[in-house]
Amino acid sequence: MKIHNFSAGPCILPQEVFKEASESLLNFDNLGLSVIEISHRSKSFVAVMDEAVALTKELLNVPDTHEVIFLQGGASMQFAMVAYNLLTKNGKAQYLDTGAWASKAFKEADGLGQAEVIASSKSSNYNYIPKDYVIDEGADYFHCTSNNTIYGTQIKNFPNTRVPVVCDMSSDIFSRTIDVNAFDLIYAGAQKNLGPAGATLVIVRKSALGNSGRYIPTMLDYNTHISKGSMFNTPPVFSVYVSMLTLRWLKSNGGVEAISKRNDEKANLLYQEIDRNSLFVGTAAAEDRSTMNACFLLKDEASHKEYFDQLINNSKISGINGHRSVGGYRASMYNAMDLDSVQALVACMQDLEKNYS
Ligand SMILES: *Cc1c(COP(=O)(O)O)cnc(C)c1O
Repeated sequence: MKIHNFSAGPCILPQEVFKEASESLLNFDNLGLSVIEISHRSKSFVAVMDEAVALTKELLNVPDTHEVIFLQGGASMQFAMVAYNLLTKNGKAQYLDTGAWASKAFKEADGLGQAEVIASSKSSNYNYIPKDYVIDEGADYFHCTSNNTIYGTQIKNFPNTRVPVVCDMSSDIFSRTIDVNAFDLIYAGAQKNLGPAGATLVIVRKSALGNSGRYIPTMLDYNTHISKGSMFNTPPVFSVYVSMLTLRWLKSNGGVEAISKRNDEKANLLYQEIDRNSLFVGTAAAEDRSTMNACFLLKDEASHKEYFDQLINNSKISGINGHRSVGGYRASMYNAMDLDSVQALVACMQDLEKNYS
């Protein structure tokens, strides 16, 4: 019986990608060698990196003004790299505080120079996206988090501003169409829609770099990695390879526009059930609900949790416990999840309601 994996990250990837990736561990590119034992500078691996970059550019319509690189250190390393590269000595950065990740990103800029939070939904446990804020025209950059993995909120409309926008898209990159030109820098840890943990995708406007006026440690300088085609040092070869396979899969399934429609369909199905079912309640503000992570609670945990957990176990539903800071349930429905997994969850919710009415 199929396991329906709703894990928030690391998370589901396409089965065909797992299959091809596992074969590459024994015999990659007909070399009779594993993808993880060959030189990253070999022709076979350089072709992988080139294809990963080319597919990213193609699938997201990345303009020539921007570079695509694959780094290490996760999205968390980007919290610091962004500040080192874009925050000038006398300038300031502005942050939108929409959750734990956003707040960790702010901490790094705040520790390095001048940074301020211009709006926050912390006092309501981040259950909505603040919208009435004004970005200071003189700021070096404005930082936001497109999808708040823990709370199930998502920015639907990015601010229209002349200030460079930096965005953590770790948990919704490639899930919906974006205008890359509206951002100076986009980053995303691989492990939520792209591949195994280890690689971090960065898309950066070339002209935004080199202006910080501060010494940037070599490994933290985007230009180091751009000038060496993401091969300044050994890249996380397996993560980059599997990310490339996932991007091939995405392309052959119609690209970002097609996956975005399927993601909407999955999310709509689940949110409709959360709203319809008398035993459940959603935690995020309706207009900010994430298509990737849906957070919801049982209205009466004491009476219903045990039986509901039994139902979801019987249906082989995995990884839907909410984050400890929100509680309840969180269903993560990343690109590789099929509609039938969401249908299986909805069926459990309906079974529970039938049993208690
Ligand atoms: C998971 C996540 C992170 C942290 O990613 P790491 O790669 O583990 O550092 C940062 N931001 C968002 C939005 C995330 O979902």
